[in-house]
Amino acid sequence: MEKINLVEIYGKIWINGELADADSPKAYTHLSAFAIHYGKSVFEGIRFYDTRKGPAIFRLKDHTKRFFESAKIINLKIPYSQDDINRAIIETVAACGLKSGYIRPIAFAGPGALGLISKNNLVVVAVLVWSWGAYLGKEGMEKGIRLKTSSYIKSSASMFCKSKCAANYVLASLAKEEACQCGYDDAIHLDEKGLVSECSAANIFIVKNSQIITPPLSAPILAGITRDSVINILTNTYPFMDLYKVIERDICREELYAADECFICGTAAEITPVKEIDGMIIGDGIIVENSLSRKIQKVYLETAKGLGGNFSAEWLTYANFYQWNKK
Ligand code: PMP
Repeated sequence: MEKINLVEIYGKIWINGELADADSPKAYTHLSAFAIHYGKSVFEGIRFYDTRKGPAIFRLKDHTKRFFESAKIINLKIPYSQDDINRAIIETVAACGLKSGYIRPIAFAGPGALGLISKNNLVVVAVLVWSWGAYLGKEGMEKGIRLKTSSYIKSSASMFCKSKCAANYVLASLAKEEACQCGYDDAIHLDEKGLVSECSAANIFIVKNSQIITPPLSAPILAGITRDSVINILTNTYPFMDLYKVIERDICREELYAADECFICGTAAEITPVKEIDGMIIGDGIIVENSLSRKIQKVYLETAKGLGGNFSAEWLTYANFYQWNKK
């Protein structure tokens, strides 16, 4: 097997309080790590964007807050404060030297005994950073993607949908693989009642008769930070919003096919329009420049890149600025 150059991909990582080269012995864990056996691990996915004031981390504090909530839900105690993790993330971004990219904080029950109680296992906390372009491709962002409803059901009864817990991502990965093997770009999970839940790693919105509709937080979905950004942008700033109303309610499968527009959103996927679901064309299947999906995408990316919008000051953390302060 070809040797992977980890330093080329990840540069430096932050691990339990210090920065280390991505291939240093500190970056490895023992085979007795509880999380490998039983899935007790939580993570975040955050993007940072190239702005006029250097790399800016999008909604850092909100992601760190969810990181701690994810850990709490699965009874994992992170031995740091949220401020410590914010600082660790800023430090890792500043050390990586990239202008834009993706950040992966992770905390897991580490080496120790392998009974089903993890309280005496060392908790490993790390931050990885890497370069990552459009998750579903540049063409997908512009022309739309094709989705397939998944045979893998999302269940709030048996999953921790509000936690970004690693164990959930076995289902997400199976759904994504199934969709891609069938020639689609991604999967839409339904829940046990047949209602629309979310994509493998993104939330979903439909547009119908001047309503912008997304499943409520009581559905088996992750409380997406991009979902929240979209709702905030739409309800507070968007100039066309006089004409539209954002509604959080259950969506049934047929409503997907009959939607005027559909888009998905997530840190990795950003805002990606959908042109087809299960072979059914959404709207007329052509994503035009002035579609609502493309307009929301534009305002979202401008906000994240500090180019405008009401929220840039509140949502952006500048990694270089932190370095200047430290000196
Ligand atoms: N749902 C799932 C299952 C996800 O993994 C993600 C990606 N984190 C999302 C939704 C979107 O969440 P966010 O906008 O916070 O990235």
